[in-house]
Amino acid sequence: MTLIQGRWTDSVHQGLQNMLTHYSRPLPERPVAVFDWDNTCITGDIGEAVLRHLDTSHHPGCVAKYLELCETYDKSVGYTFCAEALGGLTEGDAETLINEVIDRQIAAGSIQARPEIEALMHAMTDSGWDVWMVTASAQPIVRAFAPRYKQPADRVIGVELAVKNGVIQPTLAGPLTYRQGKVDAIDQRIGRRPTFAAGDALTDYEMLHAAPHALLFDHGNAELLTAAESRGWWVQPPF
Ligand SMILES: [Mg+2]
Repeated sequence: MTLIQGRWTDSVHQGLQNMLTHYSRPLPERPVAVFDWDNTCITGDIGEAVLRHLDTSHHPGCVAKYLELCETYDKSVGYTFCAEALGGLTEGDAETLINEVIDRQIAAGSIQARPEIEALMHAMTDSGWDVWMVTASAQPIVRAFAPRYKQPADRVIGVELAVKNGVIQPTLAGPLTYRQGKVDAIDQRIGRRPTFAAGDALTDYEMLHAAPHALLFDHGNAELLTAAESRGWWVQPPF
């Protein structure tokens, strides 16, 4: 299985290629790969882009409130609020709205696909891996996006919201997939620890630690870079 070079650095590309070769032999069970979504699979943050859209349409002031919550409490409070902002929309309306935001953001260049990631996912699937996406954005948002990478929506684990009679409720229906919550969700939903994890932020810290092979998109966070050095994670400058 040959992985396209794309914009990977030589050492990251070689490392990923070696990993694919190593795990392409017959194994007792399929290796699991987990990818954070925002700023890992794509350039940009679709969860925040949807929130900005909701600020102009359904919930004026929600962006300021989100930023205030992140600042005053903890990002987990902000992320919960961000996901719950979809509450009140039907599942169908939410999907339409999310796809409109994705299209608009891509057209404006504020969100960009990363074909290298899509190619890596396909190379993994073709080599017998199970590929999952684990995001701290609302699950319906990334479930709408994943098929554009030809990934099944049900392989996305995100912040799950309760649904009543087809209407999304402003209430979480599962663990907050943030930091250790990502690992807890992997344990609950996949039931196997990942062989490979990719991420870009402290949100992904525990998930990256849970895998023997990890890839960090480096945004200059000292804690993550220290961990990357001591654990031998591949470090990729953002595309
Ligand atoms: Mg991210």
